[in-house]
Amino acid sequence: MVIISARWCYFFSLFTGFHKTAKAVTVFPFIFVRSKDEIIPWIITHERIHIRQQIELLLIGAVLLYIIETLYSLLVLRLPWYEAYLWNSNEQESYRNQNNPDYLKNRKPFSQFHYLMNKRKFTHKDGAVTYSD
Ligand SMILES: [Zn+2]
Repeated sequence: MVIISARWCYFFSLFTGFHKTAKAVTVFPFIFVRSKDEIIPWIITHERIHIRQQIELLLIGAVLLYIIETLYSLLVLRLPWYEAYLWNSNEQESYRNQNNPDYLKNRKPFSQFHYLMNKRKFTHKDGAVTYSD
């Protein structure tokens, strides 16, 4: 269920540190978007992938995995905050498949775990996230 609410989008993205720039945030079963302008296919696909991840890990597992991966990337890998966020397996899967509208139709359960060990370096430039193969 998509909810248009800049306030809730801001509130939930406080936990990621990207509350000033987040266009959408997902907390099962809701997708909060900043405005109706953000209801575009790649954002909805990206957030629906997060919904699937959160269902599979019963939400609390998704939160715990996010915390563990973030701490590892910050403290062990010494990545800057934004790169640590993009290094998380949930974001790796979502960013790498958000432009494929059929991804969720063909996605195998627990595909997020594939991205635990199969990371790509993301960069953020001009408001867009890109990665190299
Ligand atoms: Zn995301």
